[in-house]
Amino acid sequence: MPKLLAYQSFIQCFYKLKLKVERKMRETFDEMIEALKGMHLIHDGFREADQALKDKIGVETCISGCGICCKNNTPFAKIIESINSISVLTGQGKLKRALSLAEGWLLDHSKEAKTYEGRPVNLASPQVHSEWLKLRQTQCPFLQDNMQCLVHDVRPLACRAYGVTFEEHDICPRKPGFGETLTQHCYTKSDELRKFVNRYWDQCHEWKSEWTVGGFFPTLLFRAGNEKKFREYVANNQIASAKIVGLDTEVSLLWQPQIEMLRAGMSPDLVTSYR
Ligand code: SF4
Ligand code: SF4
Repeated sequence: MPKLLAYQSFIQCFYKLKLKVERKMRETFDEMIEALKGMHLIHDGFREADQALKDKIGVETCISGCGICCKNNTPFAKIIESINSISVLTGQGKLKRALSLAEGWLLDHSKEAKTYEGRPVNLASPQVHSEWLKLRQTQCPFLQDNMQCLVHDVRPLACRAYGVTFEEHDICPRKPGFGETLTQHCYTKSDELRKFVNRYWDQCHEWKSEWTVGGFFPTLLFRAGNEKKFREYVANNQIASAKIVGLDTEVSLLWQPQIEMLRAGMSPDLVTSYR
């Protein structure tokens, strides 16, 4: 009889645990759906900001087929952006190609990133930090030969903000519109969008802190699409350290005031945590 009691209590514990795990999985799934919906709202917000700017200046904010900014930038993003990208690219039939480009970039022995010392902890080594900064100014692997972006519909916020919520006239050749000069382009202030984005990051961080970790977009995309392979490459030290850096802080510059603070000589830490 005692044996039967022990068996019954084991069954009860098992079912309680099973229910708990199922509830947690359901919650995580619901949170993921909410996070992805929020990301789509943010994308809509940047589209609206872009349209508002076009209406104001009377010219297109970007020249189709130009690609100059993509030639000079490999963008940063957050993990939740890469998760969103996987689902959209799958639906568009572009995932395989995007992962292959990201993988090629990861394994490429870029002259800007020479240090191979396994997974760095944030920006531990000055050498890795300096390589990381140089890498940010190299061509994005998703820029195609026709100067179009392969992942245009899921490009990171940093790409959406460019020329919309911050102005970078120095390399952008688009012609000036109303109220602009050759050396000064307009941007949209988008205070509401900025507040929404910041609230969104806070909420994502609360749901799952990993979702707000930042890194190079190709790195995060490949990691989200093929985590097993990514871990193997890291374990075998096949990826330059600067390409695996992950930061639990805001690192993308999305807003003009951040750019101005940086130009005024403020510490990058304060600039990137701009609210
Ligand atoms: S540099 Fe300017 S015009 Fe060229 S792709 Fe970038 S935003 Fe568009
Ligand atoms: S993701 Fe697309 S838009 Fe962004 S830098 Fe790369 S090619 Fe350009």
